Amino acid sequence: MVATVSGSEPARVVEVEALDAGYNGNPVVRDLSLYIREAEVVALLGANGAGKTTTLSTIAGLQRPLAGKIRMDGKDIAGQSAHRLARGGLSLVPEGRALFASLTTRENLRLSAGRSGSPDEVLDLLPELRKCLDRKAGLLSGGEQQMLAVGRAIVRRPRALLIDEMSLGLAPVVVERLLPVLRRVADELRTAVLLVEQHVALALEIADRGYVMAHGRLILESSAARLRSRRDLLKACYLGDLDRAAELAGDDDPASGGAAAPEDPR
Ligand code: ATP
Repeated sequence: MVATVSGSEPARVVEVEALDAGYNGNPVVRDLSLYIREAEVVALLGANGAGKTTTLSTIAGLQRPLAGKIRMDGKDIAGQSAHRLARGGLSLVPEGRALFASLTTRENLRLSAGRSGSPDEVLDLLPELRKCLDRKAGLLSGGEQQMLAVGRAIVRRPRALLIDEMSLGLAPVVVERLLPVLRRVADELRTAVLLVEQHVALALEIADRGYVMAHGRLILESSAARLRSRRDLLKACYLGDLDRAAELAGDDDPASGGAAAPEDPR
């Protein structure tokens, strides 16, 4: 367990500084800085193509950063392989779930658990998986598969959990069931959770803070509570209307933990 920075503020588990990330040497994410604290759920929001998946997959080691720093528990991890990072406690649930379709739920969980993991703890958090234990992952419903994907990601009690578009193709009722599980993972396992989610209102209900991206840059950081109450600001960010967003952010009362003013990515 990592010590807290001060008496009250939990440690920053993941810290990203001035990250450029992209494909074939061309950045699609630029100068991005963010952090996730221990036991914190952070939502990474933004319109399609804003750069959220690229950010997550670069932090998780699926792509090499083009520039900038990525630290976990204070250690430089930029450029490390996804496999090594996963063993070191950084777990990614990618879009598309990445399960072993021909293995049962139990076998999928055991494979991820290795010697140190605890499938029983996962079944306590996701009791719906109990009835699926002997069924092949490929035969589970979309919601059950997503539960298993989350179960596999948390079975080794990760320090950090990155989740990309968990709700893709799922009914809202399943999303409503799964998101509170992530809150419990943060609260009970002290995991730092970074969540990309299109169901913005649901994500902000369980998140502590949110970042909003547009055109490859972070344009807004705020408490989830403030983002929940400032849908107009969020909408302006999603539409890429930064002048309007800056105007709306100016309406915030800074004393109430308000939104940081949007930065112009142009
Ligand atoms: P979405 O919500 O649609 O998944 P996103 O915010 O996750 O969007 P990314 O998938 O990170 O955004 O995409 C950011 C930019 O990078 C987009 O312009 C996209 O076209 C581009 N991009 C994504 N994957 C690749 C790739 N493999 N090669 C080249 N460009 C890519």
